[in-house]
Amino acid sequence: MKLARVALDVPLPRLFDYLVDGELDLRRGDRVVVPFSTRTRVGLVVELVTQTDIELEKLKPVTRVLQDAPRLSDEWLGFMRFLADYYHRPLGETLVHALPPRLRSVKPLPRAIRAAAPAAPSQAEFLAPHPPTATQATVIDHLTAALGGFHAFLLHGVTGSGKTEVYLHLVAEVLGRGAQALILVPEIGLTPQFEARVRDAFPKTQVALLHSGLEDTARTAAWLAAARGDAGIVLGTRLALLTPLPRLGLIVIDEEHDTSFKQQEGLRYSARDAAVMRAKQAACPVILGSATPSLESWHNRLCGRYALLELPERAVPGARMPRVRTLDLRAEPVEHGFARGSIEALRERLARGEQSLVFINRRGYAPVLACDACGWAAGCARCSANLVLHAADRRLRCHHCGAEAAIPRACPTCGNLDLRAVGRGTQRVEETLASLFPEARIVRIDRDTARRRREFVRTLDDLRRGEGDILVGTQMLAKGHDFPGLTLVCVLNADQALFSTDYRAAERLFATLSQVGGRAGRRERLGEVLLQTRFPSHPLFAALARHDYAGFAEAQLAEREAAEFPPHVFEAALRAEAPTLDAAVEFLKAAADAAPPPEAVRVFDPVPHVITRRAGAERAQLLMQSASRPALQEHLRALTEALQQPQASRVRWYLDVDPIEFD
Ligand code: ADP
Ligand code: ZN
Ligand code: ZN
Repeated sequence: MKLARVALDVPLPRLFDYLVDGELDLRRGDRVVVPFSTRTRVGLVVELVTQTDIELEKLKPVTRVLQDAPRLSDEWLGFMRFLADYYHRPLGETLVHALPPRLRSVKPLPRAIRAAAPAAPSQAEFLAPHPPTATQATVIDHLTAALGGFHAFLLHGVTGSGKTEVYLHLVAEVLGRGAQALILVPEIGLTPQFEARVRDAFPKTQVALLHSGLEDTARTAAWLAAARGDAGIVLGTRLALLTPLPRLGLIVIDEEHDTSFKQQEGLRYSARDAAVMRAKQAACPVILGSATPSLESWHNRLCGRYALLELPERAVPGARMPRVRTLDLRAEPVEHGFARGSIEALRERLARGEQSLVFINRRGYAPVLACDACGWAAGCARCSANLVLHAADRRLRCHHCGAEAAIPRACPTCGNLDLRAVGRGTQRVEETLASLFPEARIVRIDRDTARRRREFVRTLDDLRRGEGDILVGTQMLAKGHDFPGLTLVCVLNADQALFSTDYRAAERLFATLSQVGGRAGRRERLGEVLLQTRFPSHPLFAALARHDYAGFAEAQLAEREAAEFPPHVFEAALRAEAPTLDAAVEFLKAAADAAPPPEAVRVFDPVPHVITRRAGAERAQLLMQSASRPALQEHLRALTEALQQPQASRVRWYLDVDPIEFD
């Protein structure tokens, strides 16, 4: 008797056995159509066996084998199994969700997609944008020597140091050896320039682009090109890591500190961490690149798990790191949120025909609409959060659940007609700048203006060509953009994050400010970064001014060690959402009782999230910590097991391993 053990996308943590007709050419890694309850589904054959505990008469046969995509390799199955185990998700869901949507369907693949394979194989011709600098050459040599085996590298290079060009040289080596290169970037839609640089450098190489913004057909075609080995380069966001690559020879994680490498739903994997495992399996190097590495990666480098490579200077001849200064908001006159020093600096740049960037970490017009007479503020009915005022289309919007409302004419509680916009976002700053500098061309860049992609790409191109004097934007502008004429960056107010209850806030603030500041002075003219603050002597700003990432990182790591926070310990969170906070907390308490932790694992009391209610659900979490990853994993297995028992209804729960966000 031949049986296929099949993984299905059902919320049960087990595999399902099906009979295999002797005639059927079926192997491990095949996609199959099988009957399941009242319909048929696509599953993946994980194992072929000859025995089962299921009664014979209950077994059903495999309906058919799908051959429109390559059979999945043992290496890939092994990687997915690792992810399912480590993040405690059902294997079936993990495997099936890793496939592009079209390959999860029982319908045959449309001919148009299947035919998308190229006539000519990918070629490795490389048009290097520049000959490498001496420092780049040293790094490239070092990395080249490591090809063909597993090595993890942390490439720490200041903004504009030419990390991207180092990647391109390595990719050329990899392609030359007939292997595939996988490059992950945080958000490809926001940095179209990156894709253009890759395509320009490898005009004859097939590049498979993979991200969640693609429509199904394009994504499936790119996935197939990668999985068949046709694409020499696979470029994408975190989900591209889950693509099978038969000839994987190099993984690059650009801007490895970026939080978007962590998936925040379903399989909550960190593509950055998982990439290291993937590289190990494929016996190839992985390069984690950043100007401000995550403290996890810096810690791994200090422990010797990652080898450090550095690019301490900018690559363009004559380009230096920008001068960073604080402007004391308590001492300087401030007009509509702008310190006098900022206004003067902006005026100078305008006079010289140079570009400036004004950074504010909030989109919309104002974060609060309030009534001074009675203290009312427009809140979201479904979240414990205020609605943000959007002036452009005169709407109130919740940035947590997306709810929208019209702007009320009067205060709903007292009838006051004089409602006030409190605080400021990008739209209001744009308005202020327009009144301060009526002659300037002002361009706003945030998630609202980036929504229409074509227009957004054109705006970025215009800005690079010098069209536009002052850019106003959120941290979207921090991500890898290169505006040659930009010499000034003004940060309006970054103080909030200095005293956040989230211990990661300082790390993120340092990264964001380094990246935003790094947009200034990327050519010959020296750039300047002005940080408006009420705490000019804060050590974080001092470290920024010295461009001293290492000093900052080591001080943070010492604090984390003293407080027993990651990366010195490992964490996982059990999170619950319920109609009432009590129900969520009760569920977590019961879960903690059902699986007593071993000595090496510390379990905290359940606590509500900072934004307790979101989209109508009350949220709480149970935090678990351990200095031992295996001990924590063992406890999570026991906990998951206990949670398989029927639960009180109306509580939704999930585990987050190595969580990074807690709002
Ligand atoms: P990073 O990825 O570290 O921010 P990039 O690779 O984008 O750096 O390079 C920053 C700038 O320096 C770009 O304008 C790039 O064209 C230029 N550049 C990179 N390497 C060199 C080089 N070897 N010679 C001259 N210019 C270079
Ligand atoms: Zn009122
Ligand atoms: Zn909401």
